[in-house]
Amino acid sequence: MDPLILITGASRGIGAATARLAAARGYAVGVNFVRDEAAARGICDQIEMADGRALLLPGDVSNEEHVLRMFDQLDAFDANLTALVNNAGVVGRIGPFSGYDSERLKRTFDINIYGAFLCARDTVKRLSTTSGGAGGAIVNVSSAAARIGSPNEFVDYAASKAAIDAMTLGLAKEYGAQGIRVNSVRPGIVDTDIHASAGAPDRVEKFSSMVPMKRAGSPEEVARVILWLLSDEASYTTGAFVDISGGR
Ligand code: NAP
Repeated sequence: MDPLILITGASRGIGAATARLAAARGYAVGVNFVRDEAAARGICDQIEMADGRALLLPGDVSNEEHVLRMFDQLDAFDANLTALVNNAGVVGRIGPFSGYDSERLKRTFDINIYGAFLCARDTVKRLSTTSGGAGGAIVNVSSAAARIGSPNEFVDYAASKAAIDAMTLGLAKEYGAQGIRVNSVRPGIVDTDIHASAGAPDRVEKFSSMVPMKRAGSPEEVARVILWLLSDEASYTTGAFVDISGGR
């Protein structure tokens, strides 16, 4: 059976680039999205037109019923789940910490932390060799924000990514002997729509000069590191944080 990978938030940006590359490397790909079905269908079409296999997976990762339904769909697909990329993530609007309202905080923590935990939980249940699985790998998409703290921008987002890094460490240790490797990637400024959603469509341009390499990264540059961490090339790498940030 083909190896199957679940990529959350795969309708655009880093998730979409990872979905395309995973398909090119031989995975059947579960393409999750929450809102933009047309974009997610477009990614599935691109994969299938290149002779790959894709499964469209609608669902809000912060809604447990949706997550359980997604995993039911994965179980019913004719492929063998071996990998998860916890990529779905959101950021609140840039602004001072004192102005964060509870709705913003809840959304950030629900999607970035709770959603990632739910997807990781339902993946390890299936992959653990102790529960009869064949092992596999998880990559959590964290952020350079976890070590920078993102003052004056989005400290809540930075904290949510630090939580993901703690999950990476804990799961790597808990499941290392059960055939599951767990790592984080920590992108810096990557050219995607997420900056516009933070109210700063010019953020890539504005911050590129602060990056030692003097440019933003592309989603494809992040996808290549994710696929490396999932592959046997990284067979002794677990509990690691890989910065993909042009030296920042
Ligand atoms: P993006 O272009 O805004 O894409 C976000 C993706 O997440 C979309 O596919 C979106 O689906 C999905 N999503 C949002 N909320 C969701 C939910 N509740 N359930 C399921 N899917 C959901 O973002 P991106 O820049 O590619 O970011 C991807 C990851 O990289 C995030 O975790 C982000 O924090 C991290 N990251 C990004 C950067 C950067 O500079 N871009 C840097 C560091 C880390 P819909 O299309 O359906 O809305």
